[in-house]
Amino acid sequence: MSYGDPAKYITQLYVTEECQQDTYAQEIIQRSKLPVRVIGDRQHPDISGTYPENLTQGKHHLLLCRNRGKFFKPCPATWEYTCCEYQVLNIGMGCPMDCVYCILQAYLNNPWISFFVNINELFTELDAAFAAKPQTFLRIGTGEFTDSLALDSLTHFSPLLVKYMRDKQNAVLELKSKSVVIDNLEGLEHGGRTIVAWSLNSPLIMEQEEIRTASLEERLAAAVRCAEWGYRLAFHFDPIIWHKGWQEGYRTTIQRLFAKVPADCIAWISLGALRYLPALQPIAAERFPQSNFFYEEFVEGLDGKSRYFRSQRVEMYKLIVDELARFADPRTCIYFCMESENIWKEVFGYTPTERGSLPAMLDRSVCDMQEQPHAVALNL
Ligand code: SF4
Repeated sequence: MSYGDPAKYITQLYVTEECQQDTYAQEIIQRSKLPVRVIGDRQHPDISGTYPENLTQGKHHLLLCRNRGKFFKPCPATWEYTCCEYQVLNIGMGCPMDCVYCILQAYLNNPWISFFVNINELFTELDAAFAAKPQTFLRIGTGEFTDSLALDSLTHFSPLLVKYMRDKQNAVLELKSKSVVIDNLEGLEHGGRTIVAWSLNSPLIMEQEEIRTASLEERLAAAVRCAEWGYRLAFHFDPIIWHKGWQEGYRTTIQRLFAKVPADCIAWISLGALRYLPALQPIAAERFPQSNFFYEEFVEGLDGKSRYFRSQRVEMYKLIVDELARFADPRTCIYFCMESENIWKEVFGYTPTERGSLPAMLDRSVCDMQEQPHAVALNL
């Protein structure tokens, strides 16, 4: 069964008073064909119950509002683990899809979804960031507090961002999703500055623990279309979850990935074993009583998050890395999200420091593929 466009789960739209005359907000309202309620600038959508019990209901409610904070910030990483120095562009909060492990359940404390319509300020802030660091290579992502594409059929925001990024020679934008809402990306002059990315998991986890997301086959078919439109791709095996049959599950996903998607279009693949704020476990347990992966044994990591034991993480990483190595293009950067150099050494045999740092490795993979889009074919 296909869940289709996650935006169709939005049944109630709200707009704050200060945004109701905004041209962009009006476009979204017209496009949605939904009833819209105007609420005060400091008011909230009226959703009964208390958080997090009302989160399931809240995922049907979308608030168009102004971001009063900063749009653009470094990813909130922890110094104890090797970080890729990602820059987060905050376009909204919350998501209409519903993954059991979603960290936003513990990170946010309101049930509705917000989308920020003061995009002129967003682009002004981006202009300032580029002007302030003209020599720094920026990898920018919008998928930290929401899914990059889940609401794109309503907002049509991706074309604006892709066009903005087109001439930015010192940056790439990563649009990361578990949906396949890609129609707005077709036919755009993206200049190779946008990477379209999907999270992948073992088929069982995708089916059982990622509610209202696209299936594996749908994600791969969407990736193939994006590759045909000239976009480079990325994939994230995150969170890798210990479950019965995980070995066969992750092998199957990797084999299906490379059977469909051209390896020389993939800029990077990240791996991250399940890690979570302790506050997430009781929320997920209550909302998804049929899920049992939180009942494995975990240890507290240096960042205060619960993680699998090191031996378990290494076992999972080694199997996945070995399988990826059978198919991946040599220029694709395969890396860990938030792991120590010890784990890098144990699994890959080298550390990011030995290769000039993780950000440098990622930046190189982007530049290599830009300069030699089909190096594998040429080498034959
Ligand atoms: S798709 Fe991402 S943001 Fe949406 S519920 Fe799943 S993990 Fe959370």
